[in-house]
Amino acid sequence: MIRLKRAAYLIGFCVFLTLSGCEHSDMHSAEGEVVLKGKTMGTTWRVTLAGVDGSRRAVLQQAIQKQLNRDDEMLSTWKSDSLLSRFNQYQGEDPQPITADMADIITTAMRIGRKTRGAMDITVGPLVNLWGFGPTQRSPHAPRQREIDAAKALTGLRHLKLMERADGAWLQKDLPGLYIDLSTMGEGFAADHLARLMEQKGITNYLVSVGGAIVSRGTNAQGNSWRVAVQKPTDKENAVQALVDLQGHAISTSGSYKNYYELDGQRISHIIDPVTGRPIHHRLVSATVIATTALEADGWDTGLMVLGEERAQELALCQKLAVYLIMKTDKGFESWMSPQFKAFLRH
Ligand code: ADP
Ligand code: MG
Repeated sequence: MIRLKRAAYLIGFCVFLTLSGCEHSDMHSAEGEVVLKGKTMGTTWRVTLAGVDGSRRAVLQQAIQKQLNRDDEMLSTWKSDSLLSRFNQYQGEDPQPITADMADIITTAMRIGRKTRGAMDITVGPLVNLWGFGPTQRSPHAPRQREIDAAKALTGLRHLKLMERADGAWLQKDLPGLYIDLSTMGEGFAADHLARLMEQKGITNYLVSVGGAIVSRGTNAQGNSWRVAVQKPTDKENAVQALVDLQGHAISTSGSYKNYYELDGQRISHIIDPVTGRPIHHRLVSATVIATTALEADGWDTGLMVLGEERAQELALCQKLAVYLIMKTDKGFESWMSPQFKAFLRH
């Protein structure tokens, strides 16, 4: 989440919603559907509802925006007074109280972190900032090796401990400079949270998206299941690379071909390999994951991006994940999908 640069990348490129066939949902909404949209976390959100009376529009819009603002106030590293920023600024080793929601996100992040052998690492913040993708903006220049080493020394999930006790959830670090970056999972969490809000409001046919994280349930106004298109990795057109029927699941895409800057002719991606301390640099250009929650999908997509094509495929197969990878080759783009992803495919 959290900065507009990423918003364009996600909404415009990774995944776009379709209401029928391959049409881009931003172009029009189908009859009988209520479409609400707005901004949050430096990106855009969009909620499409079927079977909902249009008179509820204003109340729902307000409730959605309020909830998203609260999520952002909890998770943003771009807001110095967010709960997360306060934990990051705290330089001691005493456990700090966190919300149950934040505990859920961190539990999922740590599990995916372990399963990706540290490729997905929410403590990567100092490196993200060093390479110019964090809230501490700087002019693009390649950091020196010693700067990379110094930032790397501040990372590592082993320095973080989550405790869930009768009196709530507590987070502890044994490294004062440890800095958590939940940007990669924030959109997924917010999308799941919006889906829960819809359920609380008695709405059962919805497609919600926050940035590139999408959750759906039920059917659209025509009674068909919601469909989502993964876009081709080119910034020229809205060409569909794959069309999926989420069947009540969530989807998220992470990519390296949009949020980057050029330095000495090289693309510097916003996804950092915690092992090298450097932006990823390989032919895997996007990873899309379908999972039961958007939080889960949003965690995996980044981890798989870091791992690169071969290790991502191995992990997808052994963890039985629904994964779609796009690789850039000399001859154009190639794709790969796991058997679990194929089951969601629509032609
Ligand atoms: P997007 O920004 O396109 O939604 P991601 O979900 O992959 O893509 O999130 C990328 C963000 O995650 C980066 O901008 C950075 O803040 C953070 N990040 C970068 N590398 C890692 C990593 N290895 N593990 C966890 N978070 C990362
Ligand atoms: Mg992600």
